[in-house]
Amino acid sequence: MDNIIKEMIANLEKNGELKKDEFRWILTETKEQEIEWIRQRARSIADDVYGKSIYLRGLIEFSNYCKNDCYYCGIRCSNKQVSRYRLNENEILECCREGYELGFRTFVLQGGEDSHFTDYLMTKIIEKIKTCFPECAITLSLGEREKESYRRLKEAGADRYLLRHETANPKHYAKLHPAKMSWEYRKQCLYWLKELGYQVGCGFMVGTPYQTIDDLVEELFFLKEITPQMVGIGPFLSHKDTPFRMEKNGSLTMTLLLLSLIRIMHKKVLLPATTALATLDKRGRELGILAGANVLMPNLSPISHRKKYTLYDGKVCMGDEAAECRMCLEKRLESIGYHSVVERGDSEVIM
Ligand code: SAH
Repeated sequence: MDNIIKEMIANLEKNGELKKDEFRWILTETKEQEIEWIRQRARSIADDVYGKSIYLRGLIEFSNYCKNDCYYCGIRCSNKQVSRYRLNENEILECCREGYELGFRTFVLQGGEDSHFTDYLMTKIIEKIKTCFPECAITLSLGEREKESYRRLKEAGADRYLLRHETANPKHYAKLHPAKMSWEYRKQCLYWLKELGYQVGCGFMVGTPYQTIDDLVEELFFLKEITPQMVGIGPFLSHKDTPFRMEKNGSLTMTLLLLSLIRIMHKKVLLPATTALATLDKRGRELGILAGANVLMPNLSPISHRKKYTLYDGKVCMGDEAAECRMCLEKRLESIGYHSVVERGDSEVIM
């Protein structure tokens, strides 16, 4: 095997970065055997930090109403094929209760940008969850809001916020979103969230239309700039009722390689093996973990609504009860020598 790769990865491990050309080279020229070596380095770093423990987050998709019209997303407002739903406070609490019984200690409330969920309503929901489950962490994933809104939700008890930046390149962003959506504002939101003391997750899709290798290299630099506590990445998957219906899906190999590089650069970062990865390959979650991921986010949403939260086609685990899902995941983890833990799983990345 090429010693240059070993040297580059050793540098990456030591300094947390490489030159653009070097990243470009790794993303384009590495062969199977070299990728395997990178993967092993990444996994061994993750093992040093987290051992064989995998953190679980219970995902509650509480609304598929969205005012945005992202070209890639199945729940974009122009998609009239979607039957829209939102969960009320009791239904959300019911998901939490079920999740709690199954050992989840983080709940992720994710939804489209739904103006029904005002600060008043969200604050009430957050406070209620915190009263019922004081030892659990709450992660919000509600998209872009105003700084004051983020502040109120934080004060109500939210601990973390996931807001993928989607792409680090503003020009590329403009090809994935309508003109009224702004890359600058999204980035600003990430900085506000950090300032307000949230544990922050950003992230991007791999293989979105028009993405270049240089864009992916930019991603790695962007992550250095933001230094998030969590990085959510997954392959782009096309959805039949979006403008990107004819576009091809992101690559499994590229997604896994990026997971490994991110682990090597950000040793303690929380890195989920996403549902999109599991959708792309039936062993996607296992492969993600073996490439350096340490978080899984199974679905706790009521089965009756799950199909309506379709961001991309073919999404897995649509019919499994939370309990079934939990067992299936544990078996998958065991098959590769890992296990889940009943913990909040806070980030050790310094804020
Ligand atoms: N409204 C929230 C949640 C968005 S859904 C927000 O704006 O943050 C969560 C993530 O799913 C998105 O950030 C996006 O990265 C991902 N996603 C959406 N459509 C996708 C697709 N077609 N393929 C893969 N991932 C997709």
